[in-house]
Amino acid sequence: MKKFHHRIYLDNAASTLVDLSVQKAMLPYFSSVYGNPESVHLFGQDAMKAVHSARKKIARIIGADFEDIIFTSSATESNNLAIRGIMKAAKQSGISSPRLIISSVEHDSVLETARDLEREGVDVIYLPVDAFGIVNLDVLKKSLNKDTVLVSVIYVNNVTGAVQPIKEIANLIQDFRKTQTSGKLNFHYPLFHTDAVQAFQYHNSNVDNLGVDLMTLSAHKLYGPKGVGMLYFKNSDANLLKPVITGGGQEFGFRSSTHNVPAIVGCAEALEKSHHLRASISKKIKELRMYLISKMKKISPQCKIHDAPYQSPGIVNVYIPELPKDAIARFSTSGIAVSAGSACSSHSPLSSRVLRVMGISEEEAVASIRISFGKYTTRKEIDETLKIIKLMTKKLA
Ligand code: PLP
Repeated sequence: MKKFHHRIYLDNAASTLVDLSVQKAMLPYFSSVYGNPESVHLFGQDAMKAVHSARKKIARIIGADFEDIIFTSSATESNNLAIRGIMKAAKQSGISSPRLIISSVEHDSVLETARDLEREGVDVIYLPVDAFGIVNLDVLKKSLNKDTVLVSVIYVNNVTGAVQPIKEIANLIQDFRKTQTSGKLNFHYPLFHTDAVQAFQYHNSNVDNLGVDLMTLSAHKLYGPKGVGMLYFKNSDANLLKPVITGGGQEFGFRSSTHNVPAIVGCAEALEKSHHLRASISKKIKELRMYLISKMKKISPQCKIHDAPYQSPGIVNVYIPELPKDAIARFSTSGIAVSAGSACSSHSPLSSRVLRVMGISEEEAVASIRISFGKYTTRKEIDETLKIIKLMTKKLA
């Protein structure tokens, strides 16, 4: 296969570059403002000011209160904190067999956490999905019981880009909560968590509009640095969430460890930029997506796009029957980065797990590819990619 000298990055759902403006914002916190934010001296105060202003910025963007933002090392950690922390608090408050409900199309950081807790005696319900990967709300309704402490449903799926009806789920949970409150003052269960990592770039992520109690975000999907994420936790009630990482009591006691100041500053900068550019980027990427799909259908009329009725623009998950088995590797030798299923788990056969629970055959699921756009993706890059697809489908590559 012909080697291309340039590279085309179509794996933005896996990670993105760090924008120059984000790098610039972070830079002073590596060398001039390097104190520990917990220190009382001036060096510490300067660092704490930066953490404060990052927290304030993010709270404003998602419509939260200052105290509701918990900085973590990643979305993986945020998901762990949300799920383990809520279940732990429930157990400590006397609920001996708490129920956790998650969808069967969650990211591994939610799914594996639920499985781990299940081994420790938590009653876990895995909600089935339809052919589009959307959770079955009837099953959710029937699964809610008096011991249900937490429901966690991903906002935008990282394999397909399917958007879940988060608001509807939130309403359903709130209605159920009302039936549980009679006689019990301040009864908060079940709480509702969403992993909004793949959603923030394109969709409304205001926590009140969504009706969520907890929400996970990660900076490196939004042109920010890797190794920093955050968890929104409504009302920051210490009776409802227990820390997973204990120590010096940072982050309102919910997550100990010295703050990663440059990363936190970068996270806030990236989220702010992404928030401001949401409409224009969504529009551009929607167009690119439609263009790619229409051309792809011409090359392979039998190709199957795994789209949902409400679809996020950033991801195209497609099965092209004519592609060779080693298509991903061939894309790579051509300088094109796409992924099989989810990059976070592409080393394991589980990468097709989400497609399998949608009822897609093993053969199709394994052979499907995920193309994910970013704000720097150009039409020329899409044309180059289409050329390679064409070559491969004609077995010329
Ligand atoms: N949740 C979703 C939906 C993701 O796509 C990812 C990243 O792949 C994660 C969680 C994990 O994010 P992080 O790399 O910040 O741990």
